Amino acid sequence: MRWDRCGEIQRQKVRAYLVLGLLSAALAVVLHLLYHRQTWETAIPNDCFAAAAVEPGAPRLVCLTFDDGPGVNTEPLLAILEEEKVPATFFVCAQPVNRPYLPLVRTIVQQGHQVAMHSASHQYAQIYQSTDAFWQDIKELRRQLEPYLSLGDLTWLRFPGGSTNTVSHRYGGRRIMEELKAQTEEKGWHWIDWNVCGEDATASHPDAEQILRNIRQDAADKTVCVVLLHDTMTAGQTVEALPGIIGWFREQGYHFCTVAQMEQLQGSLQSAGE
Ligand SMILES: [Zn+2]
Repeated sequence: MRWDRCGEIQRQKVRAYLVLGLLSAALAVVLHLLYHRQTWETAIPNDCFAAAAVEPGAPRLVCLTFDDGPGVNTEPLLAILEEEKVPATFFVCAQPVNRPYLPLVRTIVQQGHQVAMHSASHQYAQIYQSTDAFWQDIKELRRQLEPYLSLGDLTWLRFPGGSTNTVSHRYGGRRIMEELKAQTEEKGWHWIDWNVCGEDATASHPDAEQILRNIRQDAADKTVCVVLLHDTMTAGQTVEALPGIIGWFREQGYHFCTVAQMEQLQGSLQSAGE
């Protein structure tokens, strides 16, 4: 009788272990699926990610990008870029503050830089209200840029706040950035974020030395750097910092290119064995 009870306890233990084992396996499967669901959700082509995913030994590339201009500091920045023979990319706006400077877009193109789209109004509450509102804003931006360049060359876009911003959810729902990214690709256009930030437009108003420090810190160990800077009214320290920024990337052996040139240049430098 006692032995029977012992046997029963043993069987109960075995059953308990079996149930525990099955539950653990089920949990592992659920976690695995959740992980991959997240990957699927972010599987939309991301030019910034593609840029960063370069194998070791690949050429070092840097794209200097200036957002929110043109403005009062665009010309001084262009003068430095010309003197240093460095190409850059300007993600432009057409806000009232930009309008007197819009003809500079022609100069930017003539000097071999890339002009790309950022936003006409740059008002999050307006542009992220819906995907229609966003594309309406871009249409307005292109309309205002049309006198100064060929619209066919205007195929690159940087979303205000970046492609992963969550401020947009407040106005257009949780899916709006995913939808906008997919629609950009559907148009045959490209979008790009940044992976190095000068933090030159933050409320702390960093001086030129701090901007360079921010960049050096972010750029460390990156083969491809897409550097976020600004050519707005408040970017006087960015002008001060630019020669030092260019000098530092040169010392580190980086090649300068526009965002549109990046992919092409990666291929040619690799085949040249640089
Ligand atoms: Zn911006």
